[in-house]
Amino acid sequence: MSFSASVLTLYPEMFPGALGLSLAGRALEAGTWELEAIQIRDFASDRHRTVDDTPAGGGAGMVMRADVLAKAIDHASPPGDPRPRLLMSPRGKPLTQSRVRELAAGPGVVIVCGRFEGVDQRVIDARGLEEVSVGDFILSGGEPAALVLLDAVVRLLPGVMGNAVSGDEESFENGLLEHPHYTRPQEFEGRQIPEVLTSGNHKKIAAWRRAESEKLTRERRPDLLAAQPLAK
Ligand code: SAH
Repeated sequence: MSFSASVLTLYPEMFPGALGLSLAGRALEAGTWELEAIQIRDFASDRHRTVDDTPAGGGAGMVMRADVLAKAIDHASPPGDPRPRLLMSPRGKPLTQSRVRELAAGPGVVIVCGRFEGVDQRVIDARGLEEVSVGDFILSGGEPAALVLLDAVVRLLPGVMGNAVSGDEESFENGLLEHPHYTRPQEFEGRQIPEVLTSGNHKKIAAWRRAESEKLTRERRPDLLAAQPLAK
């Protein structure tokens, strides 16, 4: 069975978007994963197909209605659907590579994309939505965040990446940032490829890469080192 993504959005035209190209696009065509973009507005019941309303308690902006969203979620993910239900949200747990791996190992995802000021808290609670953030900044909607999450997940699905090994050595996979890369030409504007990399000594190369990884991580992301007890 292929990985199945259902995305609830006011802008279904944004999908597959970037995921229709390159690795993800080929995998989509090959049926390695499937994507359904559902128009939330189709579940509004009034003549104007209203999906939002003013915030209770006052304030700026609009809030997505719980009743409309719940109908859309129940359509996309009826009781018994084993897929986790995510809500893209800057208040969510920051997305990590380990969560991406978990999702890729599962049956799929149901993703709710917020717009406006966000969604009524009651539908988050009533439908058990897991809030997921893609970073400490505010997007205008959940769609780009959903594309980011799906891109990260889809590339891990079996058969999607040509060279499966490259997945394991990447940044975050071992709690470190990746070492720098080089390729031909040997000299670029007076800069040489580090000698060790052309030495043919695989042990030395591995040690050099490990040392560079640790140095970069210490400089840029000391929080990653702090998170793993053995790496001091
Ligand atoms: N008023 C909200 C922000 C709303 S932004 C707040 O201050 O928390 C509108 C929608 O964009 C959100 O409902 C969410 O779905 C999406 N979004 C914005 N930033 C995001 C982020 N960093 N990660 C994931 N989704 C985000």
